[in-house]
Amino acid sequence: MDKLENIEYLVVHHTGRKYDSPTFVKLRHKLLRGWENNGYHYMIGNGALFTEEGELYACRPEYYQGAHTKGYNDKSLSVSLIGNYDKAAPTNEQLITLCGVLTNKAREYNISIEKIVGHNELNNHEKTCPGKNIDMNQIRDIISTRLK
Ligand SMILES: [Zn+2]
Repeated sequence: MDKLENIEYLVVHHTGRKYDSPTFVKLRHKLLRGWENNGYHYMIGNGALFTEEGELYACRPEYYQGAHTKGYNDKSLSVSLIGNYDKAAPTNEQLITLCGVLTNKAREYNISIEKIVGHNELNNHEKTCPGKNIDMNQIRDIISTRLK
């Protein structure tokens, strides 16, 4: 895995599957795509069978580039919500954890608010990731009040 030396963006994803876990993602990414590890840096549980609702899971270490957003893997950290947010709405627990980790990483790496984005705001406009029910404007509003 290549080293991640410069973190400019925080990118939010969803896994697209209700019943999912960091281990399942790791296996899919390894076996189906040939990657060395889970492609995401962090994942957030949804409470459906395999993960705790709102629990933050550390996956790929931050000093390695992830495999999640074409063209941005060498300059971003990734956080993936377990679940499909085209179909479901995120719970408060999940949003609290998401805003918490994004706020902490924005502070740690001095990332400006407009570079905290959903996957589909970058290079994948045909996809809905992180899901139609994830309102990135609302999430940025919450984070920007905390960063002041
Ligand atoms: Zn994505």
